[in-house]
Amino acid sequence: MAMPLLELRGISRSFPAGDRDVTALDDITLTIRAGEMVAIVGASGSGKSTLMNVLGCLDRPTQGSYSVAGQDTGTLDTDRLASLRRDHFGFIFQRYHLLPHLDAVRNVEIPAVYAGVAPGERRERAALLLTRLGLSDRLHHRPGQLSGGQQQRVSIARALMNGGAVILADEPTGALDRASGREMLAILHELHHRGHTIILVTHDRDVASHAQRIIQLEDGRIVTDEENRSIQGEGSGAGEDLPAPEEAPPERGAHPVRASWGRFVEACKMAGIALAAHRLRTLLTMLGIIIGITAVVTVVALGQGARAKVISDISSMGTNVIDVYPGKDWGDEKASSIRTLAPTDLTALQQQGFVDSVTPVSAGAVLLRYRNVTANASVSGVGEQYFRVRGVEMVRGGGFRSDDLRRQAQVAVIDQNTARKLFAGADPLGEVLFLGNLPCRVIGVTKEKESPFGNNQNLSVWLPYSAAQGRLLGRQYFDSFTVRVKEGFSNQVAEANIVRLLTRLHGEKDFFTSSSDTILKTVKKTTATLTVLISAIAVISLVVGGIGVMNIMLVSVTERTHEIGIRMAVGARQSDIRQQFLIEAVLVCLGGGVIGIVLSYGVGFLFSLFVTAIVMKFSLLSLSSAFLCSTLIGVLFGFLPARNAARLDPIEALARE
Ligand code: ADP
Ligand code: MG
Repeated sequence: MAMPLLELRGISRSFPAGDRDVTALDDITLTIRAGEMVAIVGASGSGKSTLMNVLGCLDRPTQGSYSVAGQDTGTLDTDRLASLRRDHFGFIFQRYHLLPHLDAVRNVEIPAVYAGVAPGERRERAALLLTRLGLSDRLHHRPGQLSGGQQQRVSIARALMNGGAVILADEPTGALDRASGREMLAILHELHHRGHTIILVTHDRDVASHAQRIIQLEDGRIVTDEENRSIQGEGSGAGEDLPAPEEAPPERGAHPVRASWGRFVEACKMAGIALAAHRLRTLLTMLGIIIGITAVVTVVALGQGARAKVISDISSMGTNVIDVYPGKDWGDEKASSIRTLAPTDLTALQQQGFVDSVTPVSAGAVLLRYRNVTANASVSGVGEQYFRVRGVEMVRGGGFRSDDLRRQAQVAVIDQNTARKLFAGADPLGEVLFLGNLPCRVIGVTKEKESPFGNNQNLSVWLPYSAAQGRLLGRQYFDSFTVRVKEGFSNQVAEANIVRLLTRLHGEKDFFTSSSDTILKTVKKTTATLTVLISAIAVISLVVGGIGVMNIMLVSVTERTHEIGIRMAVGARQSDIRQQFLIEAVLVCLGGGVIGIVLSYGVGFLFSLFVTAIVMKFSLLSLSSAFLCSTLIGVLFGFLPARNAARLDPIEALARE
């Protein structure tokens, strides 16, 4: 006789029920040899299913020991138990327990997925098994499209997928009509014939009479265990070329990394199928993430665009330019009475090695007159380098020459506002206009600078500073200097030198400096602060979105408890279940992230139609951090639901419908 394959010693199993325990199995000692066909009979509630679950390593006994092929199952962890279920046992349930959203082939494949069989091979074997069971024309039907008998045959094919040396059939005919029931028994006979060990649970004496050995349970105890001398029926009809258990199941994924990768890919597909099955819910779940990511990416892009605009505006004024103004700071009330910015300062500054050029500015207001048109304008006396230093371009004519400065030449450069106001479209070049009583010939017209804050409406006129001071304003001091630093010199060092030089000349520091460099730094610092603020809001909105995802995932786990039970029964590890739900959460979040990014591009496009001054800037960094964030949220908020799913007890999960 063959060696004992399954060996139970003093097995008890009790369930906590209220304040006392219900004993489902009470001190069962039993051996089953390889190749036996055993029927377990007994009234409802006698413990048959509980025994079956213990035999199939779905459940652990409260007491006693159980060995499979000489290996004590009490010492095995849940993963090793899952591997036993996968490789040795095949379950057939009364209610088939197929996954409703997968077709026949995909249902049959599942045990091989967890065993790490390559997709091509396992699909081939699944189709082969189904064909041998007479379902060749039902390969891609879903359980809902199959009759009870057909569904039960799909579940037999699933039980045989990884070999199925021991077939555990719990009331396999219980839900079938008589004809399908007979067919079912014939298949079990055939499998027995081929060498499979068959353990059949039934409360029907007729069904039991097909087995070689009949074990009767009563209140969790074995009352009889005897040979059946009047075996009924033999294998015939359906599935006559079923595989023997020795027939090598398909090659397992040889390399463990490849096998894990295969399981990962499969889990992704399963997650995709599960998400597609609840499209509206998936979309609503994503909504929080979509809004969060859209808001963040858009606002960051807008901020980057605005910042780039401000920086380019400032840079166009020249980044190596330092202004010197009287007073302590902007808005100093004593500034107007400080008259120390003198021509001697100008000469001293011009002699510094780091100075490229210096232009003084003397400003005032003046009444302009050309023929019979008059207008108030601001007038500035400037040096020859002024327009270059300031980055002002000319639309007509040019700026002042050094000769103009020396001669106190009565020449003027006007801006376009003035040109429009006084000359109304006519060419102002060469015309003479009056600044107060001083006649000046127009030698240039400046180009308007575009400003993000609307265009300047002031009229501006520039004169050589010598002419402005000598002939118009009648003063010897300047209102400010603008110093252009030579290429290759540090702005900061130059600024410090200027401060030191002028302080020495004036005897005290009665002026202040301002450079576009410092303004740039301030702008950069401000935008950095804004970015931090925006990110904080982003984090909050994404956390809210993540909580939404977690909430739905928890519901999803509860809803799919039965599916989880089935997967565990056919050999899924806890890690497989955890992985599947984590992947689902990550997919939802990533999907939300991608939609969010696409949406913000849409917003960017709309924005570009209405606003031209600022161009939204999508940086690779913000896009990749959006991806990274959504993945992280998926992992973070999917973790709890996934852990809950993986920790489910397979039996309780299976019992849940
Ligand atoms: P059978 O399959 O023979 O009808 P079961 O093995 O399902 O019987 O149940 C045996 C006994 O154990 C019953 O009294 C049942 O109520 C109890 N039982 C089974 N499973 C559980 C469980 N998960 N929790 C509590 N009691 C259970
Ligand atoms: Mg039962």
